[in-house]
Amino acid sequence: MPRELVTLACTECKRRNYTTTRNKRTTPNRFEIKKFCRFERKHTLHRETK
Ligand SMILES: [Zn+2]
Repeated sequence: MPRELVTLACTECKRRNYTTTRNKRTTPNRFEIKKFCRFERKHTLHRETK
């Protein structure tokens, strides 16, 4: 299974808060998700970075 390690960065403060894995076949190339940013202490949009 082509699973790839990806880093999720906050789109507001640009910090990298999460790492996760995704399946290349089932997940679109650049995915965005609402997650809790511990630096800003609120939910922000997080985006995949390399
Ligand atoms: Zn943030």
